[in-house]
Amino acid sequence: MSKSESLGLRLGKARVASVPDVADRARRGLLAFASAMAEKGHSPSEIATQVSDGSAAQGIGRVGLSALSTQGLACAEGCAFCCILNGEDGGTITQAEAVELHTALSPLSGQPDGRGWHPKACPALDPETRRCRAYAARPMICRSYVSGDVAACERVAKGEAAEGPGTLAPYHTYLAAIGLSRAALKGAKRVSTYSLAAVAAGAVEGQSLDRTLASARHKPGELDAELKRSKRDMSRAS
Ligand code: SF4
Ligand code: SF4
Repeated sequence: MSKSESLGLRLGKARVASVPDVADRARRGLLAFASAMAEKGHSPSEIATQVSDGSAAQGIGRVGLSALSTQGLACAEGCAFCCILNGEDGGTITQAEAVELHTALSPLSGQPDGRGWHPKACPALDPETRRCRAYAARPMICRSYVSGDVAACERVAKGEAAEGPGTLAPYHTYLAAIGLSRAALKGAKRVSTYSLAAVAAGAVEGQSLDRTLASARHKPGELDAELKRSKRDMSRAS
């Protein structure tokens, strides 16, 4: 048995705490990702690396988002209530996303950042224009959090409850894909997640990538807690 078959078998057997449809979609996406990479000539080790750093989960999430309509959404450039990060963490992101975000923001180190507009704003935000300064590198949580009602987003940013804003389904598939990747690669490769707020802050404060990743890395229980929240949200929506 080749190592790529071994990864396929591991993915087939892996389990994640998500609703069954979402877990199945994530597993199919990971298997398709691994198979497409193998067809392009990538080695089993290269494929495992892209599964472990979250590139595979990120790709699955982005493909899912690209198939959705944006009709009825109020989201627009400069509308940034969703970039006010309640809590310290700011959201769960993969290693591939953390590296991309850090690379995009590092050249802006020392410039005024989002916290000049609002103390809890994401450091990636421009405090004047309220546009994301790392738009092309923004992680799945930013791409999939949407709303049809800006006023509801403003209330949520103030810590009030409001109906309307929420994450689109591909975010939940992406999360399940990270969980399956971790389960499948257990004992072979580490699958880490990171705090969006800490990665953005490290980059704009001039910290090296290695130091930022070390300080922003989640404990394993963070992904489990996010998967639990995702499962609860998906169960409520169904
Ligand atoms: S989620 Fe809300 S605050 Fe964010 S861009 Fe959309 S409407 Fe604006
Ligand atoms: S990375 Fe960009 S889109 Fe995401 S929270 Fe920060 S400023 Fe907003």
